Amino acid sequence: MAIRKLRFEGDPILNKNCREVKEMTPRLQELAQDLLDTMYEQNGVGLAAPQVGILRRIAVIDVGEGPYVFVNPRIVETEGEQVGDEGCLSVPGMAGCVRRPMRVVTEAFDINMEPFRVEGEGLFARAMCHEFDHLDGHLYTEKVEGELHEAVYADPDEEDYEEDYETEE
Ligand code: ZN
Repeated sequence: MAIRKLRFEGDPILNKNCREVKEMTPRLQELAQDLLDTMYEQNGVGLAAPQVGILRRIAVIDVGEGPYVFVNPRIVETEGEQVGDEGCLSVPGMAGCVRRPMRVVTEAFDINMEPFRVEGEGLFARAMCHEFDHLDGHLYTEKVEGELHEAVYADPDEEDYEEDYETEE
């Protein structure tokens, strides 16, 4: 388990095309695990290899339905449309409105290079589109409709903070 250093918008590595994984290796399995660790540590729902400086077609997603590792993912079906705010760990503190399909079907390989097919709706569909764009060197900021704006997050630590504060009084 390791937390990797994130790359941020402006870093040219984020605009490069990633290479396909031809053969799974212990190093790439470690990368996939590190992507998950780094994503959870940053409270993200997805992370792609170029965001930690590795130009390989590997991305991870967990929108609350358990972790998925996608190797060489390919979107094979899309349906409908959703418009909503999106953010990215490589563009910290910001959000912007992006149009994505409502439903996406993806074919990919897992961490053991076993092929699988998964269908996602809503946030999961959005996350797949967003993460797989990274593998082609694209950031969501290219697709934002209207202005990029500061992200407003509900702070999960705020209540704890208030409790601590009251205890001190
Ligand atoms: Zn991103």
